[in-house]
Amino acid sequence: REKETAESMDWDDEGGYEAPAAGALKEHLDPELGPWSELEYIAIARETARAGGTFVLSSVPQDLVDKLPQKLTAEPAFAAETRGVEELYPAGEQRAKVCLLDPRAEKDISPDDRDHFDVFLFGGILGDDPPRDRTGELRVKGFEGRRLGPVQMTTDTAVRVTRMVIDEQFTLNMVPYLDHPDLKINEHESTEMPFRYVKGDDGKPVMPEGMMDLIKKDADKSIDDLM
Ligand code: SAM
Repeated sequence: REKETAESMDWDDEGGYEAPAAGALKEHLDPELGPWSELEYIAIARETARAGGTFVLSSVPQDLVDKLPQKLTAEPAFAAETRGVEELYPAGEQRAKVCLLDPRAEKDISPDDRDHFDVFLFGGILGDDPPRDRTGELRVKGFEGRRLGPVQMTTDTAVRVTRMVIDEQFTLNMVPYLDHPDLKINEHESTEMPFRYVKGDDGKPVMPEGMMDLIKKDADKSIDDLM
């Protein structure tokens, strides 16, 4: 696995690791990687590949690197990294090229940001309890932030919208959205998702492959837990 990971990264002439020049970056702060994150990360790797970039999952503990799901590591644009984002992009010129997608940033992202940034950093750790406001920690360390509008998105949606703005040059108001959609679990039940999604051509929220099944399974599990 170590070899596999190394191969998907760029190495400079001295054999040292060079942080990718373009792509998406996410800090992973959980000791484990749950099925929800796995599906999201696969979707993020595919989304990043569409723009010709690399998706680096940083701060992955070494023992987790060794047991990342094969379906994820098989994505050509995916790279796992044990080092954290601050080490990968040291303060100064390198860090200035990194844009932190931050729901609390003062400025919204715009197509012109293509000229300012090469790397897009996604924060926000679901299930981080108590919340550590990691996005806030990165904010004060000199990563310049941009907001994707006022509504919270799933991380893969945030990556998708960033790609549409930077790569396809959409303005945020050109992106078709679906807010807090009701997902049908079965004939009798539905569940409201507390996020903004991109609306697909079929009128449904764009979600990672397999996510709908996982949501249905989780709903069945919670019903079983009650019984
Ligand atoms: N609850 C988390 C928090 O408070 O930090 C946010 C989690 S959000 C599901 C995951 C990540 O997607 C965020 O950290 C951010 O990078 C990005 N994101 C989601 N919605 C966003 C928005 N409206 N503006 C900017 N970034 C957003």
